[in-house]
Amino acid sequence: MSEVLVLLDHTEDGDLRPAALEAVTAGRALGDVQAVWIGERMSADVPEQLGRYGASVLHRVRVTDADARLTAVQGAALVAVATHDVVLGTSSFVGKEVAAHLAVATGAGVVSDATAVRRDDSGRIVADKTVLAGTWTTQCAVLTSPAIVLLKAGAVVAEPVDGPAATVREHTVSAAAASRGIRVVEHTPTAASDRPDLGSADVVVVGGRGTDGDFGPLEELADVLGGAVGATRVATDEGWIGHEAQIGQTGVTVTPRLYIGAGVSGAVHHRGGMQASGTIVAINPDPEAPIFEIADYGIVGDLFEVLPAVSAELRARRG
Ligand SMILES: Cc1cc2nc3c(=O)[nH]c(=O)nc-3n(C[C@H](O)[C@H](O)[C@H](O)COP(=O)(O)OP(=O)(O)OC[C@H]3O[C@@H](n4cnc5c(N)ncnc54)[C@H](O)[C@@H]3O)c2cc1C
Repeated sequence: MSEVLVLLDHTEDGDLRPAALEAVTAGRALGDVQAVWIGERMSADVPEQLGRYGASVLHRVRVTDADARLTAVQGAALVAVATHDVVLGTSSFVGKEVAAHLAVATGAGVVSDATAVRRDDSGRIVADKTVLAGTWTTQCAVLTSPAIVLLKAGAVVAEPVDGPAATVREHTVSAAAASRGIRVVEHTPTAASDRPDLGSADVVVVGGRGTDGDFGPLEELADVLGGAVGATRVATDEGWIGHEAQIGQTGVTVTPRLYIGAGVSGAVHHRGGMQASGTIVAINPDPEAPIFEIADYGIVGDLFEVLPAVSAELRARRG
C-alpha cells in the first residue's frame, strides 16, 4: 500500500490545528497515512488524536542545532524523513515555504491551494484547484514521486475513524549549515483571539465600507456563529480593522462553508479571495451591487438592521 506523509500544522504550544486533521482525513483515500511533527513542544494526546483520524505512525522530528520555527530548517528536516509517495500539508504561508524546500531537494511537483485530492484510475495524484478569482476549477495531476499537495484549510471535512493511537517514531535531525547561520533574536506572537483563524474558519462575517467603521454588529454575529471577522481593503485602509483581516487579491484567501458579506460591494479584487466559499450571503441596500451576482442568498437591506435581527433570532432559537 502506498504511503502518505502529512506535514502537521500545529501551534507553538504543541496543539494540532484543525487543518492538520483535515489533511489526515484526505490522506486516507490515498494510502497508509503517516504524519510528521517538526518542533519541540507536542501535547501528550497528539498520537491519540491522529490515530482517531486514521494515521498509523507519527514521526516526531527534533532539530538539534537550529531553530525549528524557520521554514528552511523544517524543509531540510522533512527531507530527512519524507520517503513517502505522497506528501500532504496545509496551504498556509509556512506550509508553502516548507513544501518548496522539500520540492527543490527532491525534484517533486507541488500543487498548493488545492481544494481536493484523489488518485485517478492510473494511480496518479490529482488535485483540484480554483483559479482566475474562483471562476474555474482545474485538475492538476502530479507526475513525480513524491507528489506534494497542499490543501486549503476548510476544503476537507475532518472525519474520525476511531483507530488506535499512532505509533511514535523519534528522529533527530542536524540542520543544514546554511540554516545554522540564522538566529531568531526576537519573537512576538500575535495576541490570541477567541475567534477562529480567518484562513481556516468555517464561518466568516465580512464588513466593507458600508459598515462606516462600526464592526460591532459583525463581531456580534461572528460570535453567535463561532466565526471569524474579515474585511474589504477599504475597511482595512480606513483603519477600521487590522490589515490581517483583509480578504481578496492582495489579502487573505478564504474558503469558509459560510461567507456573510455586509456593506461589501463585491469588487473583483475582493471576489478573488472569497468566491470559492461554500454558501455566500450578501447584505446590501443596493440591489445592483455586484456581490448579488455571486451570492446564494441576498438580503437587500441595511446591515445595521439586518445583522442585529439575525443575531437575536439565532440566540432565541438556541434558547
Ligand atoms: C490592485 C488592487 C488590489 C486590491 N485588492 C483588494 C483586496 O484584496 N480586497 C478587497 O476587498 N479589495 C481590494 N481592492 C479594492 C477593491 O477594488 C474595492 O475597492 C473594494 O473591495 C471595495 O470595498 P467595499 O466593498 O468595502 O467598498 P465599496 O465598493 O465602496 O462598497 C460598499 C458597499 O456598501 C454598501 N452599503 C452602504 N451602506 C450600507 C449599509 N448600511 N448596509 C449594508 N450595505 C451598505 C454600498 O451599497 C456598497 O455596495 C484592490 C484594488 C486594487 C486596485
